[in-house]
Amino acid sequence: MSKAPEYRGRFAPSPTGPLHLGSLVAAVASYLDARHHGGRWLVRIEDLDPPREVAGASDGILESLRAHGLHWDEEVSYQSQRSDAYDAALAQLDRSGLLFDCVCTRATLGPGGSCGQRCHPEPGAAVARRIALTGDDHFIDLLPGEHAPEDLPDDVVLRRKDNLYAYALAVVVDDGLQGITHVIRGADLRGQTPLQISLHRCLGNPPPAFGHVPVLTNAEGQKLSKQTGAQALDNACAVDNLVRVLRMLGQTLPTVTDNAQALLEAATPLWDRRRIPQTLFDPVSS
Ligand code: GLU
Repeated sequence: MSKAPEYRGRFAPSPTGPLHLGSLVAAVASYLDARHHGGRWLVRIEDLDPPREVAGASDGILESLRAHGLHWDEEVSYQSQRSDAYDAALAQLDRSGLLFDCVCTRATLGPGGSCGQRCHPEPGAAVARRIALTGDDHFIDLLPGEHAPEDLPDDVVLRRKDNLYAYALAVVVDDGLQGITHVIRGADLRGQTPLQISLHRCLGNPPPAFGHVPVLTNAEGQKLSKQTGAQALDNACAVDNLVRVLRMLGQTLPTVTDNAQALLEAATPLWDRRRIPQTLFDPVSS
């Protein structure tokens, strides 16, 4: 009988700004879920989109993770260094006949965001490479929470018109090659999951299991992000930040220590996915 693969989780930030409370929630949830299940935890920097990146953000994020006791197990991987893997996956998909060229803009796409191979690029035009694929929405979320049915597009860009690899391609290729078995991440990415599951299957990989943590919003109901003015975390207050996150995630608090790593170690056996609430509320900033 084949043995179930060991648990391999990951945190995959884009270096568009410093780690803030919202991203710490996703990092802590994926870390504790991995550790609680005796798994490994990896960090991957998703630096695929240079115009959106902020100088020094990758190093800053890694420094914040360390300061918060979130120690990863294997060398950090950087998507900017993995074009060979993305090219190989594109070539594999091309051979399967699923890719097509598209010149659509947001304005010309249909309501669901699908091209449906209705556009006819002129020879030599800058084209995006899309995949004709229907997302597989029959997955069970590992985490509690109400999930509205997704309005699934039936194709997605894998390589952009500006030649950059798209997030959908890179995330699936890397989760597959890194042997990720469990993806715990923010619910803002849940809409991407069905297509990612289908894409894993096209590439011949077993898809990971997915769990989506409710997104932390500000007082106006917007997702906390650099664009909505989220503050960088103060690494000097790591223990307080972690306690705040554990409370928001509905977890039983361990005896508080003044050491971030010790706090996470004590929180690991207490981790319980079922306690995560449907919406996150931060009593400190409310
Ligand atoms: N890089 C993505 C982000 O920072 C996360 C990707 C993922 O977890 O799948 O939003």
